[in-house]
Amino acid sequence: MYQKHCDQCHRSSFSSSELGGWLCPVCGKDLTKYPFFDAMTLERIHIKAIPYHKKIEKYTFKHIR
Ligand SMILES: [Zn+2]
Repeated sequence: MYQKHCDQCHRSSFSSSELGGWLCPVCGKDLTKYPFFDAMTLERIHIKAIPYHKKIEKYTFKHIR
């Protein structure tokens, strides 16, 4: 699970996927280029290499379950 923070309405939004666009569900601001944070640890996630962030996705998925 990923988290992004909207600097327009100051709300956090969540998504299970890093793919595609990301619009703030509250105010509709485009957060696609904003940094990802791990929704569990709130650590910033640097998404570049595909094999690496697929590992993170599995890791967080296990924690949620
Ligand atoms: Zn917003």
